[in-house]
Amino acid sequence: MQAAPLSNDSQLPSISDIAPKIQLVKNTFASGKTKTIDWRIEQLKQIRKMVVEQQDKIFVAMQQDLGRCDMESWTAELGGVISEVDHSLKHLKKWMKPRKVSTPIVAQPAKSYILPEPLGSILIIGAWNYPLLLVLSPLVAAISAGNCAVIKPSELSANMSKLVAQLIPQYLDNETFAVVEGAVAETTELLKHQFDHIIYTGGEVVGKIVMRAAAEFLTPVTLELGGKSPCIVDSSTDLDVTAARIVWSKWMNAGQTCVAPDYVLVEEAFSAKLIEAIKNKITEFYSADAATSQDYGRIVSERHLARIVSYLDSQDVVHGGKHDVANKYIEPTIVLNPAHDSRIMQEEIFGPVLPIVTIKNIEAAIPFINERAKPLALYLFSKNSDFEQQVLDSTSAGMVCINDGFMFAANPNLPFGGVGNSGTGAYHGKIGFDNFSHLKAVMKRSFWFDVPLRYPPFTDKKFKLLKKLI
Ligand code: NAD
Repeated sequence: MQAAPLSNDSQLPSISDIAPKIQLVKNTFASGKTKTIDWRIEQLKQIRKMVVEQQDKIFVAMQQDLGRCDMESWTAELGGVISEVDHSLKHLKKWMKPRKVSTPIVAQPAKSYILPEPLGSILIIGAWNYPLLLVLSPLVAAISAGNCAVIKPSELSANMSKLVAQLIPQYLDNETFAVVEGAVAETTELLKHQFDHIIYTGGEVVGKIVMRAAAEFLTPVTLELGGKSPCIVDSSTDLDVTAARIVWSKWMNAGQTCVAPDYVLVEEAFSAKLIEAIKNKITEFYSADAATSQDYGRIVSERHLARIVSYLDSQDVVHGGKHDVANKYIEPTIVLNPAHDSRIMQEEIFGPVLPIVTIKNIEAAIPFINERAKPLALYLFSKNSDFEQQVLDSTSAGMVCINDGFMFAANPNLPFGGVGNSGTGAYHGKIGFDNFSHLKAVMKRSFWFDVPLRYPPFTDKKFKLLKKLI
């Protein structure tokens, strides 16, 4: 689709507009309006309606920001939001119900249950690479849990940010949701205010800034960060399907996906075959010249392009390597055996460059991964179930997919989130609902049968009996 400029009818707020916006949503939460199931269902349906009705405008903004084709935008973002909404609508009633738990003998007679209650006001800080999904998917979870929210889209995907700021007030309850556009200054201002939960998606450096700011108010955070996600390819794998799935997950959105395979670990003896198969799939998917392919995206900014291109200095580029600053284009590129201490192996690539790292035997992949920060995602392609179990038992990662790329993201029953340096907390489906709820512990006791055992004066006899009961 040809990108037409968006109308410029949303204005960046001045810093002084931010506090009243936050106050309004907080006042709405205090009114209790967001707690009813009817209100939640209505808002969720409105999100669905917004995405469906406005899909053409959304496609245009995605095209402008990331050079994305419509099908990729739909698969990766709009479709994801719609299925999150549908999943929540289907299960919300059950999620909201008190969850009965058993009561130990020492507290009998009583009823115990967990009552999910909304936290209050949620600050959603989005990143640019999936600029709609990364604000709407947390919003679906926040609404499902009965919260209000302030949404801060990324300034780097400027067209999508503007569109989100236009559409949210058109479709959703204006008193309950506010969009604050802007960059560092606006986010810094937002972080000076007290929220009941902050969900931040982005890089580690800013993640620390967010966590420090949240600590001032003891606000809980969900940090959806990134890192270097390894992809182990064992020689027992189905080569053709493996190559297709690696190329799909690495070069979607021109490699600007938090859960894209960052590098491949493969046995030396199998590496030539794998590289050949990956090269063939790149050509099959994006033609011999990806610059002419309608299906291949662009880098979000010249700064990010320069960063990615700089990784190629002094590397053995075995495929691709061309770039074009004016079109923010980098060819799908494969690098063979970069030095382990080179920047390409130290930093998250977050672009269309795939290092292939050869190892003597496939088991060496495990210490290689464990010597580095815990990744957001880990991929294993193998038909060897013993090795599969060994990888699962001996490594840690936010999410794992065996024999595919980031398909786990399509299952709302799985938590989406990192571990260690790749993030804290998770969302999607019920896990998202719980993440934005306080799981309130409730015990209801009766007045009859008031055993005096626990009351002073304490005696040896009481003490012995108590030890037997607990
Ligand atoms: P970004 O530049 O869009 O920044 C993210 C947000 O932080 C933006 O809203 C921005 O305004 C705000 N921000 C930037 N600097 C700030 C500062 N100094 N103080 C306060 N706020 C500030 O995104 P990015 O950081 O380039 O994102 C890329 C990273 O995000 C990668 O590491 C990627 O792996 C990760 N990511 C993770 C997920 C996930 O779900 N785990 C999803 C997408 C991206």
